[in-house]
Amino acid sequence: MTGPTELAERFGTPSYVYDLDRVAAARDDLFAALPDEVEVFYAAKANPHPELLRELRSGGTRGCRAEISSVGELDAALRAGFPGDRILYTGPGKTTGELTEALTRGVRLFSTESYGDLRRVGETALKLGLTADCLIRVNNATGAAATSIRMTGVPSQFGFDSETLPGLAAALREVPGTTIAGLHFFPLSNAKDEASLVAEFRHTVATAAALQDALGVTFRFLDIGGGFAAPYAVQGERPVYGGLRDALAETLDEHFPGWRDGTPRIACESGRYLVADSGTLLTSVVNVKDSRDTRYLVLDAGINTFGGMSGLGRILPVSVEPHESAGADGTPASLAGPLCTPGDLLGRNVPLPELAPGDLLTVPNAGAYGPTASLLMFLGRPAPAEIVVRGDALVSVSRIQHTRTYDHGQAL
Ligand SMILES: *Cc1c(COP(=O)(O)O)cnc(C)c1O
Repeated sequence: MTGPTELAERFGTPSYVYDLDRVAAARDDLFAALPDEVEVFYAAKANPHPELLRELRSGGTRGCRAEISSVGELDAALRAGFPGDRILYTGPGKTTGELTEALTRGVRLFSTESYGDLRRVGETALKLGLTADCLIRVNNATGAAATSIRMTGVPSQFGFDSETLPGLAAALREVPGTTIAGLHFFPLSNAKDEASLVAEFRHTVATAAALQDALGVTFRFLDIGGGFAAPYAVQGERPVYGGLRDALAETLDEHFPGWRDGTPRIACESGRYLVADSGTLLTSVVNVKDSRDTRYLVLDAGINTFGGMSGLGRILPVSVEPHESAGADGTPASLAGPLCTPGDLLGRNVPLPELAPGDLLTVPNAGAYGPTASLLMFLGRPAPAEIVVRGDALVSVSRIQHTRTYDHGQAL
């Protein structure tokens, strides 16, 4: 009942299928790879679908907390049942309006990216008669691992530069409306392998211990970031991190002897690892055309559906599989989307059998950074259907709507 062909026939393409059983498996695997005391934040930006959020929240003491960065993600997290005190609000551009809403709706933990950001959190909390727990996000001057997306050690809108942080200690401790709960690191995404992940965590924990001394604050909370990897729109399996649990416990024992008793509480964060392999994109061939020496398969999914976080000029190494067994090997083709821009290409020179209009293709491991990371509104096509299943059972089918509403003037 929940095979790609049936779902495509019933709900059309392009569409995403997310399997909650696989979300739960990823959640359980990640918790199992970490020491028992370590908490996990799910970065909602990877996929804010409410049913995926709810699945990640469940799992008892081994359920995720939520990391959000907008009022929209706040809504999604609250709707999925996360209480405000299980939510961490992050991001470099938190406005007074957003902070007011987050605090009013129960969020108390904020990652702060600069002195100005910390002051704004404090001012907003004070106006509401509250105190905000703040993590100081650190842009570490040095890193340890080889990684594909490095977010640290260079100038950045994210985090306090580690080298100048000690000099700010007195000022940071005195910001009205705030208490410093600890630090937040997010030095890398999609680590190459377990060794680089472990090396980066070791480096982060040692840096955190040095900064605890320099800041003169006993940390209650330490978010050491992530970097847990997952295949993205290509074949492959989530990595198994068999040695991480012991390596992390050892480095925490060395630098934060009270961590097992909760001083500080330790958290990691992840987006893609938790949801990437739960998702499959279903797309149909609309046209096949040859231009000079290149064959184009024009699909109904382009960078408006699967944008890879921007789509603009960046071609992902997408792999697609024909769904019903097609004929003999065909000509390698460029995979184009339906948009009126030459930038709407999902792949070049992709080996595929002979295909015809109407044939169904699937893109594997597409559960992270899908619709909401795409150019969803460009050219005004409907958003893809998002089909949630649990194994063989159909759970829900929904679609993001984009409609114009008027704040001033009126609709034509
Ligand atoms: C994007 C982001 C994540 C999630 O990254 P993944 O590579 O998907 O795990 C976690 N933390 C922060 C601060 C982020 O910005």
